[in-house]
Amino acid sequence: MTTDFQSYLERARSEVRELSVEALEGRLASPSPPLLIDVREADETLNGVIPGATLIPRGLLELRVEAAIPDRRTPIVLYCAAGTRSVLAAVTLQALGYTDVASLAGGFARHAQLGRPVEHRRRLTADQEARYARHITLPEVGYEGQLKLMDAKVLCVGAGGLGSPTALYLAAAGVGTIGIVDADKVDRTNLQRQILHAEDRVGMPKVDSAAKTLRGLNGDVTVNGHAVRLTSQNALDIISRYDLVIDGSDNFPTRYLINDACVLLGKPNVHGSIYRFEGQATVFHPGHGPCYRCLFSEPPPPELSPNCQDAGVFGVLPGIIGVIQAIEAVKLILGKGDSLSGRLLTFDALAMTFGELGVPRDPECPMCGDAPTIRELIDYEQFCSHDGRVSIPSH
Ligand SMILES: [Zn+2]
Repeated sequence: MTTDFQSYLERARSEVRELSVEALEGRLASPSPPLLIDVREADETLNGVIPGATLIPRGLLELRVEAAIPDRRTPIVLYCAAGTRSVLAAVTLQALGYTDVASLAGGFARHAQLGRPVEHRRRLTADQEARYARHITLPEVGYEGQLKLMDAKVLCVGAGGLGSPTALYLAAAGVGTIGIVDADKVDRTNLQRQILHAEDRVGMPKVDSAAKTLRGLNGDVTVNGHAVRLTSQNALDIISRYDLVIDGSDNFPTRYLINDACVLLGKPNVHGSIYRFEGQATVFHPGHGPCYRCLFSEPPPPELSPNCQDAGVFGVLPGIIGVIQAIEAVKLILGKGDSLSGRLLTFDALAMTFGELGVPRDPECPMCGDAPTIRELIDYEQFCSHDGRVSIPSH
């Protein structure tokens, strides 16, 4: 049996609860406000949206709603330009099992007509929409997530084996500000694994080489080079300018400095390390899980560490670990997924196996424990240590 559009719409309206602008305001101000969804197309939201609205265009609603609203009892209010598409969208959500769906009568037009507040969302340029199209399509990233990435400030400590793939993928993903801390110059022996650099840059400061590569990949990215070694004097100042830190360092003193500064500043620290054919990654997220000192409260004595040059590293390995660090950083920025906080991921390239160890927070930890004893940064003696690997205690 067929029907004309007017009859179809009338039937839809009879099945959907409609709210006035005033009623919506009342519900939004209540202790359990509904989720407000703007189902207009992206170009219709250029003149503003109702404050707090989530944007899911009508054309993508069925595809995205389950990821966006997993709980079908969530109270939802839909709105469109004038209140027609939102009624049809509400019928669809009810058919999908959502039990508390309403539509804003008169839509955005009525809201604006009554002089209610309008929020202007920042927009991507057409070039950015094209560049990040594959992100925007993902419900877990989307338009808002891409804007979050573009606002994010990430500090990569080390532009070496780990920092190279991390920084490249962060730049490609559109992370807006990338800081690079590295005091070294590009050396021919680096080129076997440090893919930020190139033959014609041997002798160039690594921060300059990194900036050149990252800006070439994505002109949207601001790259800040810090051509210094991280010390107790500069670590807090540098790290405080960023949202999170990627530890791609190759020595214990830097590792402890990053850890302690991140705990003091409350910044997440995405940790990675490599040794020969083995790699490890985890996230130290103050307030959410352990810190590095929960695993190893003090650095090992320098005499127990072999010389870096002797240790050797499989050149492809940091690609895996550095990219895992980039993934964890992007997830933290987006607030999506389960981070590696509290879990140490291990990788053996020769066996091609991944493992995982639980790493609980230690209440006795001198840095993040219940009664911390370390309250300022410490410069440990510089020494090389297995290219920075964490040894797993055998107990
Ligand atoms: Zn700790």
